[in-house]
Amino acid sequence: MPIEQSRINSWPHPPDVLERETADGGFSKGWGMHFQPVAECIINAHGHIQFALMDHCDKAVEDHLKIVAPMAVSHVVVCSPIASAKTVESSRGMGIYRVCVMEQMEPYLDLADRHSEMSLLLFLDHDNPDPVLVRQCAKRGVRGIKLHNAPLIMGGVCPEHWLDSRWAEVFAEIERLGLPVLWHVTQRLTDSPYTGGARNVYWSDGWKNGATFTNEDLLQTYLQIVETYPGIPFISAHQLHIGWERLDELMEQHQNLFIDTSIGCVVREGDLLYEEDRDYIRSFFISRSDRILFGTDFFITDDDDQDTAYLCQSVGSHIRFLRQLRLPHDVLQRVAHGNAQRLLKIPSEGDGCTNR
Ligand SMILES: [Zn+2]
Repeated sequence: MPIEQSRINSWPHPPDVLERETADGGFSKGWGMHFQPVAECIINAHGHIQFALMDHCDKAVEDHLKIVAPMAVSHVVVCSPIASAKTVESSRGMGIYRVCVMEQMEPYLDLADRHSEMSLLLFLDHDNPDPVLVRQCAKRGVRGIKLHNAPLIMGGVCPEHWLDSRWAEVFAEIERLGLPVLWHVTQRLTDSPYTGGARNVYWSDGWKNGATFTNEDLLQTYLQIVETYPGIPFISAHQLHIGWERLDELMEQHQNLFIDTSIGCVVREGDLLYEEDRDYIRSFFISRSDRILFGTDFFITDDDDQDTAYLCQSVGSHIRFLRQLRLPHDVLQRVAHGNAQRLLKIPSEGDGCTNR
């Protein structure tokens, strides 16, 4: 049965399948002809790290990497605990610990120093526009900044808060240092059983605290900042909770606008994307392939809290989504690791990509 050349060329087969067509005088032509492109390695560009005690922090990082290694995840990017200006006795907020001073950040910077497979982002609280901290942390190897609008929503603090002159100073510093910003901007109102998400998260508190602004207001303030600092790559967490069509428009208007795949880009175990959905989303991923970063929003925390099964489900569901899009080899590499390497300036010794 002769195999039509056009069949092999019209579907995204990886380079090795194509190479076998001619290598060794075509001896292995057709062997493994159905193989699909695989990610050379995966950088999980959206995670969090926090410990009540630092005693077992190295082991927690090593355990995490060991769990995700079989799924080809070779490098993880984690947000520090929230660096807040307030000296808070009870140090939890949004389930995330707070650190108040540089000395409390040091153990996390040291931890990242000891693990080349892990990059750290400085998670700045909205109440802490501190350009000195940004500078200090950048000097110590922090690869980007994390911002989160949950405290604004929950506290009923207007989005214009970010347009304050003190934040302008911070953004100018971030731009000067060439760091990207990972930002959780909006929060959908509906529940989302497919991702295990509840209704009115953050907003139910916000409305009690007098919040009258909307997701659209939060988005518009964000876009204003994206526009003002073209040198900062802004990575929008959870696809801004908007659809692909509007995302595409916004990415056309703002060349420094990026997204990660966290939460919205999942396929649950046993599911197959509907073909219509796959074709639609696939064309978005191909046309915006240099602006999408793989990320799952995971946690590395004290040993006892680590839930291996949950972590595998979550990372697996995000990878399954990517695989089912049947992306061409080069597109898959950009989304899986290339874009993160470029934006976060991850040195190739620490990315775990050995096949290049
Ligand atoms: Zn997150």
